[in-house]
Amino acid sequence: MPDMNRSKGFYLPKLETMSPDARQEYLDKKTQEIVAHAYEKAPFFRELMKKQGALPQDIKTVADLSGLPVTEKAELVRLQRENLPFGGFCADKMEGLRRVYVSPGPIYEPCEAVLEDTRWSQAFFAAGFRKGDLAQVTFNFNMVPFAFMLDEALNQMGCKSVPTGVGNTEIQVQVLKDLQVEAYVGTPSFLSALAERAEQMGLDLQEDLNLKVAFVAAEMLPESLRESLQTRLGMMIRQSYGTADVGCLSYECPLTGGMHFAQDCVVEVVDPETGQPVAEGEMGEVVATVFNKTYPLIRFGTGDLSAYTTETCECGRTAPKLTRIMGRVDQVTKIKGMFVHPGSVTQMSARFEQISACQLVVTRENNQDVMTLVCELADESGATEEFAAEVMDAMKEFLRLKGRVEVTAKGTLAEGCEVISDKRVWD
Ligand SMILES: [Zn+2]
Repeated sequence: MPDMNRSKGFYLPKLETMSPDARQEYLDKKTQEIVAHAYEKAPFFRELMKKQGALPQDIKTVADLSGLPVTEKAELVRLQRENLPFGGFCADKMEGLRRVYVSPGPIYEPCEAVLEDTRWSQAFFAAGFRKGDLAQVTFNFNMVPFAFMLDEALNQMGCKSVPTGVGNTEIQVQVLKDLQVEAYVGTPSFLSALAERAEQMGLDLQEDLNLKVAFVAAEMLPESLRESLQTRLGMMIRQSYGTADVGCLSYECPLTGGMHFAQDCVVEVVDPETGQPVAEGEMGEVVATVFNKTYPLIRFGTGDLSAYTTETCECGRTAPKLTRIMGRVDQVTKIKGMFVHPGSVTQMSARFEQISACQLVVTRENNQDVMTLVCELADESGATEEFAAEVMDAMKEFLRLKGRVEVTAKGTLAEGCEVISDKRVWD
């Protein structure tokens, strides 16, 4: 086994280490190109620019983008309903696509026939993944794009994948052991669940398993959890941030201390009210522009709050870093790595005449998200086990997540209370 140094080197050396001025010039040029392309091919952007009285030639630099409004992820559902299937965002005809993904909402997402780089390979490399590694991909392969994007990115960089998807912890542990899997891809909480299961099965986490690196995303990674998992499993765990719509936007390097902006996309941090870029260190919404010719999202508002720093990083990467993801601009909440829209909760509860008021409460137990639908019933005698089972089924159907049901006395929930109450505490 050659000694692979997992903490050194770059996946795209030229782009990752270029001077800030050279990067600016590079991104300005790519921005011009994608704006012209989207104006020509994607009806939504043509209309949006016309409304602003802007022409493609007005956008010559990244800075010029601030003249265009931010399109919020939360608006995608409505925009698509008005103009199915893609709301005028897709620059290709249906016959030119390879897949259509369905994200919660539902939001339909086109996947181009010839795969574009969604920038996750850079993130994998920075997390210590190397060519030849076998990676277990434990994100959901059902309908949503994220796991597919990651799987393709692993493939592009010469890693092999075991696409296990979510759940089935016992089999997943067996696979880790039998195949001596080197790399984990998934949420931090699922890695934690696998470690626990492995111990229950009598395995030694370091002797019996061969995990070296983990790429985690879609959830907060508390430092306490990272440290304990790294020590127990004897591996390096790095996190990444992006969305299923735009792909990778930032990722940790071996030195951590924030997530470097990904190469080959524009990441802005803006005032959620005005859409104008905020100063270094100030909190704002993460807004992305990607150069995907099929799905050219321009000034796409992720709804996530963060801040950035241009402090030099010793790893040699010259891109700024997002300091951390601080929460959500709107009420859309990420639970177990999935976005849950308040609208979906309302829709779901509307199916039950008995429910007079409800609130989805999100908490943390043993490093896992726990989702509880607290409901008030018009008639409290309706609080049967059968009712609870039906509501739990509806949660799986509408929210694609398992949850608990708690019936509470009338008047417990304040009138007009938030549909989703996020009570998770992060260190
Ligand atoms: Zn770095």
